[in-house]
Amino acid sequence: MLLERCLAVHVYVLITQTKRTMDEQNALYSQGRSQPGKIVTKAKGGESYHNYGLALDFVPLDQNGHADWTDMDAFITIGNIAKEIGFEWGGDWKFTDLPHLQYTFGLTIADLKSGKEIPTNK
Ligand SMILES: [Zn+2]
Repeated sequence: MLLERCLAVHVYVLITQTKRTMDEQNALYSQGRSQPGKIVTKAKGGESYHNYGLALDFVPLDQNGHADWTDMDAFITIGNIAKEIGFEWGGDWKFTDLPHLQYTFGLTIADLKSGKEIPTNK
């Protein structure tokens, strides 16, 4: 639905990541801490909606189909469309995460850690 609605306004989106395993999340968390690189997440394994398949990262594509990490207008357009259909957008956060969207079904990370499941009527 997100991709269709973006397409309808001629904004092109590439989904760069969806679900991450706990190990992948821990590896990402160690980046910029115990491993080289820039800090890219605040979340350890189990603390990200990515770990439960409820988040995705995206980047706008330019007219040539290339990822454009600098196109703020496109990020905002995509973020707004996503919010209309029920996503939370990382662009609204204090620790801004422009490429991030999550669809929580009202579940907190604590809920998910305790094994609470997504309501089946959604
Ligand atoms: Zn993300």
